[in-house]
Amino acid sequence: MLNETAIAALKFELRGELIEPGNAKYDAARKVYNAMIDRKPRLIVRCADVADVIAAVKFSRQHKLPLSVRGGGHNAAGSGVCDDGLVIDLSPINYVRVDPKKRTVLVGGGALWGDVDHATHAFDLAVPAGIISTTGVGGLTLGGGIGHLTRQCGLTVDNLLAVDMVLADGRFVTANAKENSDLFWAVRGGGGNYGIVTSFLFKAHPILTNYAGPMLWPMEDATEILRWYRGVIAKAPNALNGFFAFLTVPPGPPFPEHLHNKKMCGIVWCYTGPLKHAEQVFKPIRKFKAPALDLVGPIPHPAMQSMFDALYPPGHQWYWKADFIRQLSDEAIALHVKHGAMLPTMQSTMHLYPINGKARSVKNSATPWSYRDATWAGVIVGVDPNPANKEKISRWARDYWDALHPYSAGGAYVNFMMDEGEDRVRATYGKNYNRLAKIKKRYDPTNLFRVNQNIVPAK
Ligand SMILES: Cc1cc2nc3c(=O)[nH]c(=O)nc-3n(C[C@H](O)[C@H](O)[C@H](O)COP(=O)(O)OP(=O)(O)OC[C@H]3O[C@@H](n4cnc5c(N)ncnc54)[C@H](O)[C@@H]3O)c2cc1C
Repeated sequence: MLNETAIAALKFELRGELIEPGNAKYDAARKVYNAMIDRKPRLIVRCADVADVIAAVKFSRQHKLPLSVRGGGHNAAGSGVCDDGLVIDLSPINYVRVDPKKRTVLVGGGALWGDVDHATHAFDLAVPAGIISTTGVGGLTLGGGIGHLTRQCGLTVDNLLAVDMVLADGRFVTANAKENSDLFWAVRGGGGNYGIVTSFLFKAHPILTNYAGPMLWPMEDATEILRWYRGVIAKAPNALNGFFAFLTVPPGPPFPEHLHNKKMCGIVWCYTGPLKHAEQVFKPIRKFKAPALDLVGPIPHPAMQSMFDALYPPGHQWYWKADFIRQLSDEAIALHVKHGAMLPTMQSTMHLYPINGKARSVKNSATPWSYRDATWAGVIVGVDPNPANKEKISRWARDYWDALHPYSAGGAYVNFMMDEGEDRVRATYGKNYNRLAKIKKRYDPTNLFRVNQNIVPAK
């Protein structure tokens, strides 16, 4: 039974903080990035180190407390936090150590991508991440990891060399290609289902200054741009990434006043080849149709990685819908243009992230990520600071998704999904699901780690 004596004993065991309801820090500590999520845990353990993680896992098992693991707190479904349970908050474990000779980076399980970019940039190196620097390394990596470097370097998991983990029974293990290789396979896309990663070892790439940024066109040109873009991205060299977006131009610098609050379409490019070749690479792109705004140019990698942070601070309402897409037919493009033109609020958006290039060179069965043969991970997000607009942004995203889902490949990227149930998780992992379920049974037979896109242990 959970009583004050047991809680006091846990507190005594920890180096980090134990936060309970009534504590002045409780409300801030239970908040996650998506303000639609409002959960009230019984205890929050801010882990200072691996020993704290082990103590918290054992406590949760002993007292049959539901458990959630929090990295950066960005998850769409808010799976870093749970009601009436124990939150294992890894945010203090955020060290980053770069080995410039080996070109590897050791990252604490609670670090944010901004921490990694800051540390690696000093050595002219980078690890492929997402497009917002406040996202957690933990959740993004364990789900796969898509971003500006996907076509150049593959998914984030394709650059993962090893993890240290605390398992459901409290054991501490290392998993890599040689040691606990089944576990290492499962964590490269299987999410937080297998245990708590206390450190990640990544391969880093020599990336310093990109030729990158957004190009925007009027909404009236969206059909033409999308038809052209699908061909461009199919043939582009791996050094060129570009995701498509419907967006509303923010009313402030660096955007010119005449474009403020205009709904537009755009491509956010990122070229990592030699800078001396960049203008040449972009010549045909600029020639196809002169953009209404062209912000593409040389930019330090960490600046690219944090370019959209200010537009998306924590605390907004977020409603997510997603799908993998193999082909964009003219019919699907027409529906995209129809729904894209109805963006309900300034921050709502639709992105098509290419997952071809280097990411495609990995087999579907080599990691749990089973849509390597898709061309895009699509995501529709209704976003707004005002809770009164929750229904409006959710309805727009659902209507948009309902119209386009029949043209999709079936599943969706786990990190772009909210809580959509077991069938959807199965569709996402496809043929890899059964193998994941068997490994889950081996390492977490009682499904202790279940506040996530859950893989049910095999029978
Ligand atoms: C604004 C925004 C932009 C985004 N952009 C991208 C993008 O460009 N590319 C992309 O791929 N994704 C992107 N995402 C999605 C992001 O990858 C997921 O939201 C991811 O779950 C966030 O990880 P986190 O650690 O911040 O989240 P959390 O909510 O803390 O955790 C998410 C899940 O991972 C588990 N987890 C986290 N850390 C660990 C750990 N160390 N060990 C075990 N389990 C752990 C948690 O238990 C939880 O189930 C974006 C999300 C947001 C909100």
